[in-house]
Amino acid sequence: MHRCFLIRNADVILTMDDDRQEIKGGDILVRDGVITAVGQGLYDDDAQIVDAQGCLVTPGLVNTHHHLYQTLTRAVPGAQDALLFGWLKTLYPIWAGFGPEHMRISALVGLAELALSGCSTTSDHLYLYPNGARLDDTVEAAQAIGMRLHATRGSMSIGESAGGLPPDSLVESEEDILNDCIRVIDTFHDPNPGAMIRVGVAPCSPFSVSRELMRDSAILARDKGVMMHTHLAENDEDIAYSLEKFGMRPGQYAEELGWTGPDVWHAHCVKLDVDEVALFARTGTGVAHCPCSNCRLGSGIAPVRGMRDAGVHVGLGVDGSASNDTGNLIVEARTAMLLQRVSLGADKMSPREMLEIATRGGAEVLGRDDIGRLEVGKRADIALWDMSDIEAAGSWDPAALLLAGPTRVRDLFIEGRHVVADSRVTTIDMGMTIETQTRLAKALIEKV
Ligand SMILES: [Zn+2]
Repeated sequence: MHRCFLIRNADVILTMDDDRQEIKGGDILVRDGVITAVGQGLYDDDAQIVDAQGCLVTPGLVNTHHHLYQTLTRAVPGAQDALLFGWLKTLYPIWAGFGPEHMRISALVGLAELALSGCSTTSDHLYLYPNGARLDDTVEAAQAIGMRLHATRGSMSIGESAGGLPPDSLVESEEDILNDCIRVIDTFHDPNPGAMIRVGVAPCSPFSVSRELMRDSAILARDKGVMMHTHLAENDEDIAYSLEKFGMRPGQYAEELGWTGPDVWHAHCVKLDVDEVALFARTGTGVAHCPCSNCRLGSGIAPVRGMRDAGVHVGLGVDGSASNDTGNLIVEARTAMLLQRVSLGADKMSPREMLEIATRGGAEVLGRDDIGRLEVGKRADIALWDMSDIEAAGSWDPAALLLAGPTRVRDLFIEGRHVVADSRVTTIDMGMTIETQTRLAKALIEKV
């Protein structure tokens, strides 16, 4: 794509700026990956034109929780109807057979799937490193696609022999974990505005690492100036485990070990009580809400309305493809909106508020003010949705994006790069990637 381009004559631009401006017949001018003008009737001699007639334009969506490696284990029979802990025990032995190629190819597939659903920034939580796999494999995949990535270096240190859930072959020593966290932060983390790669520190969950590793991870993250992420309060089993093992609720446990603050975000938080929601609001702790995964595993409906009303930063996450099993972020937004409405009433979550959570909200959770909205000076992460095709034909308002469709973008720009054009990923050979993914999945199925 030309270094300067003009998105012209969009039906509506939802800017998600501080005034939540909506611009009819709107244009966006981009130069060198940054938005330089937003308005009507814009003109630039130098600019290549992108005709946006018939399109709704939104900021690129932000995904705050994923395990990209799991796109190789969708719809695994033994895990289809299991509860969380049983689900994990079915999948661990399969994941133990993964290596670097599995990590890279499944990340490519997951990232492409996200891009096609309008997502321009994703976080990833990789907490197992069998057979020479490294966080580097996922970073390479994101660089190949051109996706903005917050890669978190996950970890598990308590194996079966020590009373934990994962097999011993999937856990690492706490010393190795902390050393590799330092390595990947020093190698990949970019703290600057417009960063394409940031790194975070992310023990898998309070039930797969020790109290010491939770605490040391927080100290390391703060020393390095990076963010922290984990799973918290996912379901009733999770709360019971916390009460039994730690003698306190997950929110208290997090607070005690330094796991609250604006540099922390927790996935799920389905079972937070009102005191824990108040704690998160007071401390600026973020939440990655993963509605499809919560439905799939029967975990419950997270109190998103209550969190938002209390002032908690909430973003959306598709979660891994072993528990969704799709990775479509706009579908996730629709599901999140519907779940708040089925539990609280149709007036309790509007399509516009949910689109805000999916864009600006996710950016806040990841500690970024340079993305998630379309205004001058922000990065050019822009999604164009064709509202003239079958899914949205006959719609009266931009709310149709969540109430009707489409579920695939027409165009997606990330840092001004044309990553999706005519609803196809432009940056990698998608056919070959899917072929390799299918071959790897078949080999895994044969081994079970
Ligand atoms: Zn997860």
